[in-house]
Amino acid sequence: MPDLYIAGTWRAAAAGERRDIVNPFDAQVFQTVDEAGPADAEAAVLAARAAFDTTGWPRLDAAERADLLRRVAALLQRDKEDIARTETLDTGKTLVESRVDVDDVTAVFEYYAEQVLVEVDRTVDTGRDDVLSRVEHHPVGVCTLIAPWNYPLLQMCWKVAPALAAGNTLVLKPSEVTPLSTVHLVRLLAEAGVPDGVVNLVLGSGAAVGQVLTEHPAVDLVSFTGGLQTGRSILRATAETVKRTTVELGGKNPHVVFADVDLDRAVDAVLTGAFLHSGQVCSAGTRLIVEESVADDLVAGVVDRARRIRFGNGLDEGVESGPLVSAAHREKVEGYVALGRSEGAQLLTGGSRPQDPELARGFFLEATVFDRCDRSMRLVQEETFGPVLTVERFRTEAEAIALGNDTAYGLAGGVQTDDPERGDRVARALRHGTVWINDFGPYVPQAEWGGQRMSGNGRELGPAGLAEYRETQHVWRNTRPAAAGWFRG
Ligand code: NAD
Repeated sequence: MPDLYIAGTWRAAAAGERRDIVNPFDAQVFQTVDEAGPADAEAAVLAARAAFDTTGWPRLDAAERADLLRRVAALLQRDKEDIARTETLDTGKTLVESRVDVDDVTAVFEYYAEQVLVEVDRTVDTGRDDVLSRVEHHPVGVCTLIAPWNYPLLQMCWKVAPALAAGNTLVLKPSEVTPLSTVHLVRLLAEAGVPDGVVNLVLGSGAAVGQVLTEHPAVDLVSFTGGLQTGRSILRATAETVKRTTVELGGKNPHVVFADVDLDRAVDAVLTGAFLHSGQVCSAGTRLIVEESVADDLVAGVVDRARRIRFGNGLDEGVESGPLVSAAHREKVEGYVALGRSEGAQLLTGGSRPQDPELARGFFLEATVFDRCDRSMRLVQEETFGPVLTVERFRTEAEAIALGNDTAYGLAGGVQTDDPERGDRVARALRHGTVWINDFGPYVPQAEWGGQRMSGNGRELGPAGLAEYRETQHVWRNTRPAAAGWFRG
């Protein structure tokens, strides 16, 4: 079956292009998919435009859209194992993580099935009894949804669920590196009864289809999750036609540990924050900022446990971490390891490819810890998007906050302390979109997710995640029309 979905039909790429999909565990091609070009992207945009302009979808009763979202949620659970396996083959992440992702997105569809029924339109008191004034909310129109490779299904669903709930029509573009779970998702959306043209799917690289999807005048909104450089170019691309543009970008997320905590618990939190999914998490806590009096003990604990992480095939039981997503990405992260050494950071563990012959073909990189880091280093300031933890020490709370905010990004941060007041104080002072106190990483559909500063400009999840996909319109009705009387001639 072909992989592009346009106007309710599965089709191959117009130019006949295909792309190999590689399993990062063994570097083997395990599937090929259709690779769209500009003509396919244009067809998808026009199909979405036609569905928005000429069908009743945008005005469908909210309760019917809620039912549709619930059917999608049920189908995701029905196919959970199949989707999770696909996600693991495609990304290398463990099956346990892939299953968590399917459960998360199921909850997101269910959440927006509820949220879409919440009344947000309102009547305005104008102070005049001859006027009915209402503020209403309508779908924005044709939305391009672009997702990255680290959480392919999850990041796409965080966009698809609210965008459909609001009544938009969509063109989905997953990462060319990891498109398979999105193909499965689109099959489920069709099975759930999404009308033809409402959801369209193009696979392909940004270079091939990006320009059409972000510049075409028929597109009203672009929602992008990915890297900072791509985000900047998308903002430039959408500026010409002034499209609504949401960018969810990277992070360099501080994890602040105070001396008053249980050290074993803090070690565990640091490990989870930095090394889950080999650090390929936008909110990975790869910048450890630790109170000097406990720093040596904490770092020793982290190093000890980092060395014991069980790498392997994500499909195998008991494996704790898979590889990096691609050869090219591993080289990029290795470049940061070399940079860290040249900047004078002290490599305590990792930095190399594992010796185990079982792992030789995959794109593995050991969990890496650099001590004696400081804020002037690029290793500390830039997102490596790999399993590379930097360590800085602080003496005072003010110093910890200053370090935590000393980044161009502002996506997420963590604070470990047993003093609740201090936890709240530091969390509020950190200029990051999410701050965890005595935890690192959880998210729920009910709470907004997004970046401050260079981590982005919009919000996903929560009520704000739905608002991103709605236009606000003020309708003023004069019930006793009369001449305004401004001009008397
Ligand atoms: P990327 O920027 O390379 O690619 C993201 C997507 O954009 C892909 O689908 C890609 O094909 C597409 N793309 C590339 N150039 C394009 C163009 N010119 N026009 C349109 N589309 C284009 O990012 P990536 O390497 O796939 O993902 C990793 C990045 O994503 C990291 O920086 C990570 O922090 C970030 N991320 C952020 C969040 C968040 O919630 N803020 C979540 C996950 C990942």
